[in-house]
Amino acid sequence: MNTGILSSAVSNEKATQYVQEVYETVVKRNLHESEFHQAVKEILECLTPVFAKQPKYMEAGILERIVEPERMITFRVPWVDDQGKTQVNRGFRVQFNSAIGPYKGGLRFHPSVNASIIKFLGFEQIFKNSLTGQPIGGGKGGSDFNPKGKSDGEIMRFTQSFMTELYRHIGPDTDVPAGDIGVGAREIGYLYGQYKRIRGAYESGVLTGKGIVYGGSLTRTEATGFGCVYFVNEMLKSAGLSFEGKKVVVSGSGNVAIYAIKKATQLGAKVVACSDSNGYIYDENGIDLKTVQRLKEVERKRISDYIIEHPTATYVEGFNKIWSIPCDIALPCATQNEIDEAAAKVLVANGVKAVGEGANMPSTLEAIEVFIQANVLFGPAKAANAGGVAVSALEMAQNSSRFAWTFDEVDDKLQTIMKNIYENSMHAAAEYGCPGNLVVGSNIAGFLKVADAMLAQGII
Ligand code: NDP
Repeated sequence: MNTGILSSAVSNEKATQYVQEVYETVVKRNLHESEFHQAVKEILECLTPVFAKQPKYMEAGILERIVEPERMITFRVPWVDDQGKTQVNRGFRVQFNSAIGPYKGGLRFHPSVNASIIKFLGFEQIFKNSLTGQPIGGGKGGSDFNPKGKSDGEIMRFTQSFMTELYRHIGPDTDVPAGDIGVGAREIGYLYGQYKRIRGAYESGVLTGKGIVYGGSLTRTEATGFGCVYFVNEMLKSAGLSFEGKKVVVSGSGNVAIYAIKKATQLGAKVVACSDSNGYIYDENGIDLKTVQRLKEVERKRISDYIIEHPTATYVEGFNKIWSIPCDIALPCATQNEIDEAAAKVLVANGVKAVGEGANMPSTLEAIEVFIQANVLFGPAKAANAGGVAVSALEMAQNSSRFAWTFDEVDDKLQTIMKNIYENSMHAAAEYGCPGNLVVGSNIAGFLKVADAMLAQGII
């Protein structure tokens, strides 16, 4: 099972065997769920030193329980398209762990969505949410619905149908969804409207990522991308480096990518490329973010249209070809497994100094190993992209207090949270024998708080 992420860790035979057995049970019990297996493998492997040092977690069966969702809901989502034809999609919500707070995690609308993807995302979310230091448990949801090419009316009918089933499972104190791939401001608005209509009450804390005029938080839109850059900035500072004058490549052109580009540029970097699922654009002069935002957020077009307005830029077809561009800093902000071992080797050969994961699990286990062996500063997703859910929790706090903070107040809190995540992860890595390894450190720091809460709450 060892991929080498843990190469310098202290472990003992018993802990290694225990972790291996739990992993094998996960694979047996969740056949064909490769993304879920991958996420579990990464985390479990990093936790071996914890069980070696503190057998109480083994004795209480924490691991056996934490890998099994508290609840997994699947449901039918029927809706009528613009041609009057009935369509049926599948809806999912995994309520993975509520030891430290209500389930919290986004909704993804993408044709690739299945139980494996929802469970990998929900499992990761447990540890990410714990790392933020806020009282939120782990959950995730979504549907195999494809929003691309759908009219506003179709999106509304689909989201209303989705919420007509989901509403009975969520609530401000039980489970609080948000956006993810394919679920942005428009979808959250429709989802909230339908929830409010069914419940007959204004429970604004039931969803986060809401519009500012109806209970949203300033800085939530920017939070994941900004937070990722703040996290990478901490890594760079530790090595005596900064964003100033650096060449940056960002994959994706959605919510996370757009605000990662914005903050990296504000900190003095030149972002030369970004992408969508069809290909990437390269602009030697630095990406013109206004054009990207208009094309992707307003007109919902393809990134290839960028070159119509910027003829000196180039467009290259192919989803993950973007990693062949030489850069100092790489920020994968599109989707899972977009950097494989070969792409990681090319990035290293081209001299990449830091990688910050804005997307969830964008690097394969083999790619992570390449970065760690090459001493690249590596910010794993559950730490580097935790800014989004952290500000979602701040949105919940504002909704509960019926009060709203300014943009700068939320941004200051976000910066503090990202710095704390960095420091706590570094501290845990050092304490458990892997100094400087943020993959190990973030998994352990995230795990310990949830494990202690589970210990305190008995076998449930
Ligand atoms: P968006 O839907 O806003 O944007 C996603 C971007 O990635 C688009 O450019 C899209 O291209 C591309 N993309 C999506 N799926 C694929 C795929 N299968 N293959 C290739 N390209 C793809 O999503 P977000 O920006 O919100 O999310 C991006 C990543 O960040 C995801 O991994 C998400 O889980 C993670 N994340 C998001 C948070 C948030 O607050 N939004 C919080 C934490 C993590 P196209 O336009 O062609 O579809």
